Amino acid sequence: MIVVMKAGVPQEMVDEVIRAIEELGYRAHPMYGVERTVIGCLGDERGKSQLMDLESVSGVEMVMPILSPYKLAGKQLRPEPSIVTVGPNCKIGGNNIVVIAGPCSVESEEQILETARAVAACGANALRGGAFKPRSSTYSFQGLGEDGLKMLATARAETGLPIVTEIMDVHDLELVLRYADVLQVGARNMQNFSLLRTLGTVRKPILLKRGMAATVEELLLSAEYILAGGNQDVILCERGIRTFETATRNTLDINAVPALAERTHLPILVDPSHATGVWRYVTPVSKAAVACGAAGLIVEVHPHPERALSDGAQSLKVESFRELMEEVGVIARALGKSLGQPIRSQLEAEK
Ligand code: PEP
Ligand code: MN
Repeated sequence: MIVVMKAGVPQEMVDEVIRAIEELGYRAHPMYGVERTVIGCLGDERGKSQLMDLESVSGVEMVMPILSPYKLAGKQLRPEPSIVTVGPNCKIGGNNIVVIAGPCSVESEEQILETARAVAACGANALRGGAFKPRSSTYSFQGLGEDGLKMLATARAETGLPIVTEIMDVHDLELVLRYADVLQVGARNMQNFSLLRTLGTVRKPILLKRGMAATVEELLLSAEYILAGGNQDVILCERGIRTFETATRNTLDINAVPALAERTHLPILVDPSHATGVWRYVTPVSKAAVACGAAGLIVEVHPHPERALSDGAQSLKVESFRELMEEVGVIARALGKSLGQPIRSQLEAEK
């Protein structure tokens, strides 16, 4: 249920209503809009009639049910788009299209440093790289674990790029939190509800990737687990779904971008690398993603894809990534948006 307050009521009245909601055994989620405050009441729907009685409390305009099953991820409580801040100053969901770039896996200090310097010089906003890798085969490279996280931290110290890295298991949470700026939940873990519930209690943004066989609604219900735990900083990511098609690794569900945008205030990224599995398709698909409203991209880049320990076939060389930034930048500007961060050499020249 949601309680809609009258426009311009004083904070004390809002606090009074919050207290009344909590006394009825519900959790109150106030959302302070420009004009008015609405308060979400989360808990057992069976007590609805008691909440309806709040309509007679002063300052309350009306009480109504939240129709969608994802109460906090949906737009009824929060119609305006959310902006998630990553690291000190990267904002996902605003007028600037954000690009997160880096290798599939952290392989060595030289590899991650070389990649970080290169993507920063091309204008990337954040560095990706897996230290814990979910691999289909137990015999494949599984990631460097804490050593990999330390290498990411070294790259961040040098380039200033915030770090996006995957959390696979609740047991690694303390460790990953020590190093990461954004915790990525991979497609294979989208419905690991105990992991999601735990991530609701952390104070860092979560990048939630869509499961390869999950619907848009299921993705939003998974996001809801994190939001309901108290962590409001959730970024969604469409990364392709499994279909009968074999020409590409997955099928980018471009429809999901506007379909999600209609249903949620959370920012939506697209991962063109896992969506296609083919580096040559990454830039064309990235242009489509930005054209249809994605808040940004997460792209795999490797200085030597032929030597990559994972996902080399879909990784862009630095030169191709630079072209991606140029080409996608044209689309962003056509929409009145900007892309990435100003190129470092330009910043330095301006000093
Ligand atoms: C990744 O980002 O490297 C990854 C494993 O992605 P996904 O979970 O989407 O397969
Ligand atoms: Mn990968």
